[in-house]
Amino acid sequence: MSVLPFDQRDGFIWMNGKLLPWNDAKLHVLSHGLHYGSCVFEGERAYDGVIYKSREHTERFHKSARLLDFDIPYSVDEIEAAKKLVLEKNNFTSCYVRPVAWRGSEMMAVAAQHSTIHVAIAMWDWPSMFDVAEKMRGIRLDIAEYRRPDPKTAPSDAKAAGLYMICTISKHRAEKKGYADAMMLDWQGRVAECTGANIFFTKDGAIHTPIADCFLDGITRRTVIDLAKRRGIGVNERRIMPEELATFNECFICGTGAEVTPVSEVGPYKFTPGNISRTLIEDYTAEVTPH
Ligand code: PMP
Repeated sequence: MSVLPFDQRDGFIWMNGKLLPWNDAKLHVLSHGLHYGSCVFEGERAYDGVIYKSREHTERFHKSARLLDFDIPYSVDEIEAAKKLVLEKNNFTSCYVRPVAWRGSEMMAVAAQHSTIHVAIAMWDWPSMFDVAEKMRGIRLDIAEYRRPDPKTAPSDAKAAGLYMICTISKHRAEKKGYADAMMLDWQGRVAECTGANIFFTKDGAIHTPIADCFLDGITRRTVIDLAKRRGIGVNERRIMPEELATFNECFICGTGAEVTPVSEVGPYKFTPGNISRTLIEDYTAEVTPH
């Protein structure tokens, strides 16, 4: 692949309170965040110069850190100001936004009570796919072997790096089989979400989505639920077993990165992207575009 590696790009990255040239935003190899997964992050998008639901993302960033037993050493207002600065200095209008926070190098064992917390904010170009006709062909999903863990075994509400280990393995396996992504079940065998997006189905003109009790309750997921309600589309948050997929008409995934993306297949189950997916793609596009 000829994508320019992420450590070799131009621009500015905010790190620990300062705006640094892209190449200088480095950490030491002996960092707790790298060895023990004490790292949380965010994924956001700016549209026409405005980061969609920016503050909500920053609040989640703080919450994720607290769930990993550390505090982000910058207030929500300070992170908001830093994001604005990075957007301006890089001359971006529409881009992907990646805040990240991790425990540093003072202690290199499981316990790291007194580590410094480092914070960085980077942004890069990641075009959104607003070609509705192209999207309506739908993507194909595998069904992952790994399951979302019981919330009693991991802080499943956190957007924490460690929780993505099983997502990367599952997505790699899916891609090797020719799928775009994988749908994951939860620890009880119910439908959960994808490796980096939430999942919805439709039946009889209403939408159905799993209850977010052991995986990330995405900001896009909540937005889509609001948009559907505004249209008078019924919303059912409930337990969904995989066998029930045979009874749904449409399926789509949603997340900051994926936006709203229709699905044509999940393992043996087939779907036909239709009017509800199209309406929600259009409504989401209008919603994220600054007015
Ligand atoms: N689940 C997972 C595992 C994700 O990585 C994401 C993307 N952050 C989502 C769901 C969707 O979350 P959001 O809509 O807040 O981007």
